[in-house]
Amino acid sequence: MSPSLHPSLDLHTDVLIVGGGMVGLTCAVAVASAGFSVIALDRAPIAVQLDAAFDGRVSAIAAGSRRALEGIGLWNHVLAQGNVAEPIRDIRVSDGESLAFVHYDSRALARDDSRARAETGQEPEPFGHIVENRTIRTALAARLLELPNLTVLAPAEVASVANEPSHAVATLADGRRVHAQLVVAAEGKESALRAARGIAVTRWSYPQTAIVCTIAHERPHGGVAHERFLPVGPFAILPMTDDADGRHRSSLVWTEKTALAAAYLSLNKADFDAEVARRVGDFLGTVTSIGPRWSYPLSLLHAERYTDDRLVLIGDAAHAIHPIAGQGLNLGLRDVAALAETLVDAKRLGLDIGFGEVLARYERWRRFDNVLLAGITDGLNRLFSNSFTPLVLGRRLGFRVVNRAGPLKAFFMRHAMGLVGDLPRLSRGEPL
Ligand SMILES: Cc1cc2nc3c(=O)[nH]c(=O)nc-3n(C[C@H](O)[C@H](O)[C@H](O)COP(=O)(O)OP(=O)(O)OC[C@H]3O[C@@H](n4cnc5c(N)ncnc54)[C@H](O)[C@@H]3O)c2cc1C
Repeated sequence: MSPSLHPSLDLHTDVLIVGGGMVGLTCAVAVASAGFSVIALDRAPIAVQLDAAFDGRVSAIAAGSRRALEGIGLWNHVLAQGNVAEPIRDIRVSDGESLAFVHYDSRALARDDSRARAETGQEPEPFGHIVENRTIRTALAARLLELPNLTVLAPAEVASVANEPSHAVATLADGRRVHAQLVVAAEGKESALRAARGIAVTRWSYPQTAIVCTIAHERPHGGVAHERFLPVGPFAILPMTDDADGRHRSSLVWTEKTALAAAYLSLNKADFDAEVARRVGDFLGTVTSIGPRWSYPLSLLHAERYTDDRLVLIGDAAHAIHPIAGQGLNLGLRDVAALAETLVDAKRLGLDIGFGEVLARYERWRRFDNVLLAGITDGLNRLFSNSFTPLVLGRRLGFRVVNRAGPLKAFFMRHAMGLVGDLPRLSRGEPL
């Protein structure tokens, strides 16, 4: 993709999106697909994100998020890249080395669901799909090119934003000015626009680092995602598609004490693989790491408000959570779906899309879901990274109860699929 560098000093657009990560660019695509003119900018060239060395993670794209990506013409660009999206058919959550576990089965959920029963002959909808982040970024880069009302400026940075009565004026570091009705901050955890408006955040660092790598294994994974709660933190084995040579693959998200992570990361391959095999166990047969090892320090962040004059926060700029449940990006994608719908509805009513009441609707809509997930993921991480005996016994009992309680289990499954609560139209599979 060749990002356009606009020659004129003054640019005019409906929406300016600052931050071209997965959430910012998805927002750009969603809002432009709905007919608004959009300028999206990032401080790094977009091509940098497509490099294999940029991001070694996969994302669990929940069913509701997949529907939204379909609705904005992005999912077909994911699938166009080949066999790249592995359906998650089962989720198995277990407590350390104990026999306590909860098994979530998407087929069982479909059997219980009367609508799914009516759709005879259809494959039950999986919980979601595991897709490499690089694949999502490549799909975004391809989709951007299809939207003539979307301009990407990268590399570019905002030096300051001033508000006029009818629009905001963002002055870029190179002197260009972008006149926009609405500015969207999507610059991730360290959002400069959020800081410039004095929006406070609640934040803390976990004493944990996520070690991420891909493994090849002898036996197929059968579409099962494993979340194992080990004493130092969660250990996830996420099913990926087989590679071009037919090797079975999974992605690991191994949460480790930060003080020990560097030592594990610097092990030679044989020793690293032995540590991996010890944690994975033998159900996948022989396991070997392939490709680079990655590490991500973990923290929680939540902004005290998501809006200011002609400004909204989305994605990690508004909230960042522990990856224990693979939901951070899904929350950001629900922000995008809710914001796009809010703007479309405002436009249909003839309202200014930067109007405070319009933005307040977006904030009211998204706050509960985001706070809830931040609380759940933080609570789970604390509960399970603990070897206090009464807690251990209590949570093992909890596993048995949940595993047998049909309705509770079904609720958790729908939640993991992103199909619970006041869903935006895109997440329900409806047009904007
Ligand atoms: C180990 C790990 C595993 C995860 N797994 C999952 C998962 O399975 N499922 C899931 O849903 N979520 C997962 N997440 C969470 C998910 O990765 C994040 O929530 C998501 O990537 C956030 O995207 P974003 O676009 O909001 O922010 P970012 O990815 O941080 O992007 C911000 C962008 O803004 C740009 N930028 C920053 N500052 C400026 C500036 N001043 N001017 C211009 N541009 C700027 C940056 O260059 C960057 O491109 C995981 C997270 C981790 C750490």
